[in-house]
Amino acid sequence: MATWRCVKQCGACCHLDPTERPDLEEYLSNEELALYFSLVGEDGWCIKFNKQTRECGIYADRPRFCRVEPQAFQEMYGIEPEELNDFAIDCCLEHIEDLYGDRSLEMIRFNQEVGILAHPGTRSSN
Ligand code: SF4
Ligand code: SF4
Repeated sequence: MATWRCVKQCGACCHLDPTERPDLEEYLSNEELALYFSLVGEDGWCIKFNKQTRECGIYADRPRFCRVEPQAFQEMYGIEPEELNDFAIDCCLEHIEDLYGDRSLEMIRFNQEVGILAHPGTRSSN
């Protein structure tokens, strides 16, 4: 079984361009929405994302919507803790495919590191 983890040198989920995330208002509070918009840079990337290292500049203090944690996913998306692994994998696959492409190095590395044996771009975690 594939096991979710955040792989290094990715950052696909830090491309916050709201036009690509039309459902924000469904799972963010007004306060979080304001925080979200305040983080979006002109190029669509989070202003706290370091493009050289591809790391978060405020990792320890990152917002709830950046955290792959059971409580956050339950509150935001109604995902039960036992569903978190597969849901998080699908989220990453979607972000990586949208941003880098389904045959990108990022996709290949993610699949390898979480243990997905299928070809890149296959959205299955089992
Ligand atoms: S898309 Fe997934 S693997 Fe990539 S940085 Fe975000 S959480 Fe990590
Ligand atoms: S706050 Fe950090 S984890 Fe969240 S989108 Fe920005 S760079 Fe990524």
